[in-house]
Amino acid sequence: MVLCAIFGCGTRSGRDKGNNMARIPSVITSRGEEVRKLSEERRNKWISAISSEDLTDNILNHGRVCGKHFISGKMAKLWNRYDPNWVPTQDLGHQNCGSVEKLQADLEVATKRDERARGRVTGKFTHLPVCVIRNLLIRKL
Ligand SMILES: [Zn+2]
Repeated sequence: MVLCAIFGCGTRSGRDKGNNMARIPSVITSRGEEVRKLSEERRNKWISAISSEDLTDNILNHGRVCGKHFISGKMAKLWNRYDPNWVPTQDLGHQNCGSVEKLQADLEVATKRDERARGRVTGKFTHLPVCVIRNLLIRKL
């Protein structure tokens, strides 16, 4: 059983039948330069779309993204570069992540609620993208 790699999604293959789980595309090196470039670009776009705080090598190599994150519910083919389903764009768990200013404001609120929570959250996760910190913050508080 594989869990969807998108932050906060929770779809599992097997349990949620009928959902198209797409493997995170790997770089194809055996079919010429054009395919290699295209597949590399797509992989990078997927990785930034996923932007999970625990995007380990294991997830990168074996992870899957469920159909919920594609407009059509299904990943487009590699050569359909301009298909909106070429990369996951829906319900990425951080589409409302806003700016650093917004994060700062949230932290202010967090401080008022719990002085120690702020130190924990910011101290531990400052290397992460704003979106991810926000999600962690929201989840923890
Ligand atoms: Zn999902």
